[in-house]
Parts: sequence; structure tokens; C-alpha cells
Amino acid sequence: MTEVAIDATVAKQNLLDLDREGMERFFAETLGEKRFRAHQIMKWIHHRYVTDFNDMTDLGKVLRAKLEAHAEVRVPQVQFEKPSTDGTHKWLLAMDGKNAIETVYIPDKNRGTLCVSSQVGCALNCQFCSTATQGFNRNLSTAEIIGQVWVAARHLGNVPHKQRRLTNVVMMGMGEPLMNFDNVVRAMSIMRDDLGYGLANKRVTLSTAGMVPMIDKLAEVSDVSLAVSLHAANDALRTELVPLNKKYPIAELMEACVRYAQRKRGESITFEYTLMRDVNDQPQHARELARLMREFDNRLQMKDAAKVNLIPFNPFPGTRYERPDDATIRRFQKLLNESGRIAPVRRTRGDDIDAACGQLKGQVADRTRRQAEHLKRLESQGGPGVDAAA
Ligand code: SAH
Repeated sequence: MTEVAIDATVAKQNLLDLDREGMERFFAETLGEKRFRAHQIMKWIHHRYVTDFNDMTDLGKVLRAKLEAHAEVRVPQVQFEKPSTDGTHKWLLAMDGKNAIETVYIPDKNRGTLCVSSQVGCALNCQFCSTATQGFNRNLSTAEIIGQVWVAARHLGNVPHKQRRLTNVVMMGMGEPLMNFDNVVRAMSIMRDDLGYGLANKRVTLSTAGMVPMIDKLAEVSDVSLAVSLHAANDALRTELVPLNKKYPIAELMEACVRYAQRKRGESITFEYTLMRDVNDQPQHARELARLMREFDNRLQMKDAAKVNLIPFNPFPGTRYERPDDATIRRFQKLLNESGRIAPVRRTRGDDIDAACGQLKGQVADRTRRQAEHLKRLESQGGPGVDAAA
């Protein structure tokens, strides 16, 4: 066995930061160990949730000592967790001394979806999103992103390949995932790896506000499903809601989506549309959206290449937007249906615990009190709000 000099001045490698390739390289180059050892340790971490090298019983004493000297498995600390009355579960995870982010698990009939954050805060300033109000603090590391899956999977007692209670991951939590490209791609690769969480490509979805160049880059390196936050089918309105649209207007965004779908041959793209009262919920908006979606199908010569997901706006303190009433939501949906497009309305889940889309805020330094006060206020108002029809 190769001797490895132990240098205490070098920071320990957090093994949660490494995908299969990185782990193999670390084992070969730093520890002088064989590849199958790297695979063993990934299973200990991601399948059995073991973080203490001493408990990894099939690794020899010498290897365990080497690991102790050079590596660690540092998982996010659960600061607070809250189950919702509807089965949704939210975690507030401490990322360092100052920052915490939120992760949400949403069970449904035959799937369990985890909504994962990619940044502390967000720089994009979408006008209707609560995360935007805290500004941008920093990117999450790969360990901090996959750590969210680790925490949830352990909580769910998820045994890969047997009891799949965590079946889907959506990168729809806090942050813009394509602005933290490398770490997000690496984390998604662990999600899909059999040595990680073994999720099918299609069951990992990245949602973007429309970072055009990064959509192309993603197409080159990954096979995940793509969701695009559209919210308006004309540039004037979209720029108002999603300022990034100024830089990458709808026509360019749609072309990037065409390229992505072409590369993925036959895979559809989901367009998310958050419905806001009197802003983008009128019949002309529905018709405009239907037209844009039809153009997309035509470009790809494929029916339903564009999927639409309608999300009734979820309010948060201080917002100037409102959720449309149910009749308006239904009218919007009906117009899309009549154009031949299925457009499910995403049911609001976990809104009694502030876990719905766009309500995730986490904590940045001294926001702790505000968050606690807000939760208290909501609780005193009495439980969950009314769900829109699914
Ligand atoms: N930055 C990425 C991922 C985070 S947002 C993106 O923009 O796609 C996840 C989804 O929630 C997006 O479609 C976003 O537009 C939507 N969303 C944000 N705020 C919302 C709110 N208050 N109510 C409903 N949906 C919201």
C-alpha cells in the first residue's frame, strides 16, 4: 500500500463535495487507494447515511486512519424542521455560522419530491419571489446542495432501490441554479448516480429563470429535465416580472429551449407560469401563452414539446401581488386546454409552514427573529390557506 504523508495544515476534504469521479480521484491521488474503495464509501454516505469513518466496518483500520487525517463527511445541520398538515416537510438547514437555507419535501400519491436550494438568497430579483427580498449572499457548495438530499433521504428512511419515498428532485428552492453551475451539476450527478441516490435523469429537474448561455452549457453536460420560469409571454410584462428578461428576451430564451429539447431528443420542457391577479391572469395572457407554446411545439415538430405548469401566486409579507381567485385560474387553464394544451395547476402544498413556491427565504444573519415572528403570526391566523383546484 502506498504511504501517504499526513499534512495537518491541509484542510480536510469534505467527501460530500465529491461525485463519483471526484471521489475516485481523491482516493487514487490523495489516499493512494483503489477505485472500489471510493465506491464503498459513497455507499456508506449516501445509502446508509454514515458519517463517522469508524462505523464504516468494511474499511480496514489503515484506510480509516488515512480518511480521518485527510477527510470528513460534513453534513448540513438541521436547525429547525416543521411538518405540514398535508405531509409536506420543511427543513431549515444551517450552512455556516450565519446562513441557513430551506429544503422542502412534498409527498404525492405515487411520488415524493424534494425541492432543493442552490444559493443563499438570489441575485435575480424576480418581483414576485420572496427569496429575492433577501438579496444574494453566496453560492452553495456541492456538499451543501447534496447535503439537503442526504438530510431528507435519511429522515425518510429511504433505502435506494427498495422503498422509493424520495423519487424526484426539483432544483426549485432558493436561488438560480444556473448561476451556480458547477456545484449544481456535480450535485445532480450524485443524485442520479447509483452510488448516490439513483434517481432517473427525468426525475431530476432544474428550474431556471432563463440564463440562456447556461442552458446551452447544461445541454452539453447533463441529461436532467429542464423547467423554465416564464410567467409572461410578452417581453414588456416578462421584463417587469423577471428582470433577467431584459438581458435574455423571450425569443432568445425559446431558442435556447429548442436547442435543449433537440439535444435531449423527444423530451419536453416545462414552462412554469405563476398566476398573479390582474397582472398576467387575463384571457389575452392565456392566448399569448398558448401561441408561444404552439410555436415551440412547431419548432420541434412534436406535440406537447412544451408543457405548462400553472402556479397560483403564493403570497408573502410585503408583496404587492395577489393570488387570482379560483374562477380566474380555471378560466386561464380552460383557455389553454382549448388550445390543446394540458396545463395542470400546481396545488399549493405546505403553505401553512411557508413552504410553497416562492416562499422560501431561509435565514441570513439577523433574519432569525423576523422569520420566527412571521411564523408565529401565520399560526395565530389559523392554519393552511385554501388550495386551488389541481
Ligand atoms: N431561480 C429558479 C428556481 C427557483 S423558483 C427559477 O426561477 O426557476 C421556483 C419556481 O417558483 C419558479 O417557477 C418561480 O418563478 C416560482 N415562484 C417564485 N415565487 C413565487 C411565488 N411567490 N408564488 C408562486 N410561485 C413562485
